Amino acid sequence: MIRKIPLAKPSITELEISYVCEAVKNGWGDLRDYYITLFEERFKSYLGVKYAIATSSCTGALHMGLKALGIGPGDEVILADTNWIATVAPVIHLGATPIFVDILEDSWCIDPEKVERSITKKTKAIIVTHLYGNLCEMEKLIEISQRYGLFIVEDAAEALGSVYHGKKAGSMGTFGVFSFHGSKTITTGEGGMFVTNDPDLYEAVLTLSNHGRRRGQTKQFWPETVGFKYKMSNIQAALGCAQLERIEVIISKKREILSLYKKHLEALPGVKMNPEPEGTFNSAWMPTVVFPKELNITREMLVSEFSKKNIDARVFFWPLSSLKMFKPAKYNINAWDIPRRAICLPSYYDMGDDEILSVIDVIYSILRRVK
Ligand SMILES: *Cc1c(COP(=O)(O)O)cnc(C)c1O
Repeated sequence: MIRKIPLAKPSITELEISYVCEAVKNGWGDLRDYYITLFEERFKSYLGVKYAIATSSCTGALHMGLKALGIGPGDEVILADTNWIATVAPVIHLGATPIFVDILEDSWCIDPEKVERSITKKTKAIIVTHLYGNLCEMEKLIEISQRYGLFIVEDAAEALGSVYHGKKAGSMGTFGVFSFHGSKTITTGEGGMFVTNDPDLYEAVLTLSNHGRRRGQTKQFWPETVGFKYKMSNIQAALGCAQLERIEVIISKKREILSLYKKHLEALPGVKMNPEPEGTFNSAWMPTVVFPKELNITREMLVSEFSKKNIDARVFFWPLSSLKMFKPAKYNINAWDIPRRAICLPSYYDMGDDEILSVIDVIYSILRRVK
């Protein structure tokens, strides 16, 4: 029996351990926010944005950001049909209506032309998700959002460190959100970040994030609105500080893994993996393979074969509109078709070349069988 190969696993070194121990021992009283502030400061300078708020999750960050933009009942929010449920959940919680549009065939990110065609008088915002480390076509999307006077929100949970023509993913929209869940590029156990360059939006989210208490309010226990409790703890932030110090090596390892997969798998006719168009940098969060229709390789074959070999490969996101809470939007051809012939592959910092090659072997053995 081969040992189990997990999909994702954080890289924890002595640096992370020492930061966390320090926070547990001393991060109380006057120092109760020390690591939170440090993490936010470092994150801002890494990303190139003016404001950042550490949160308990990416979903929470998105919920507060959309709330601060005034999104609610009667409003439409456009997003890709291909998404994790976390991206649409806050839209639903706020009583707004999600409009699911198709993805592009090469980047698996939202199709700007389909976005424009879906805009109505009710549209308030577009949420663009940089899927699996791949970048959305931000130039077109920002242009559309400006022409129609819409907010543009970047869900950069999967693309920390990806760069679009000199700008980091998450730094280009009205606001951006990140996740530090254990499967993500860097982790705080659970956690997230809200970022923006807009001072008013920053203040609004800061107030919401602290149970509706405005910064600088001297009256004790005095909320001005009903807010949220979506704060990150000092201990989690300490872990985040250590991870952020190591982000360059973490990303470069992720890129090496993707590149080894690509070398072997893109050699096969018509097989496509995460793209990196000119002028962009893909931080390679999740190596994903899409097989051409002609090969007749299905998601079910892939899932069953990988599970037999004890390898935790995962299905490509089901279209959100295929879930029973929503109406099926089968006109989103790519979002419905691509997952049927795709798989997400393991890629964690400590993954050895032998393990990567054993993942590749499973795909080669399926190929030999379907031929
Ligand atoms: C992981 C993820 C989220 C949710 O992150 P949490 O921190 O778990 O809330 C949101 N959007 C996308 C695209 C994700 O991959």
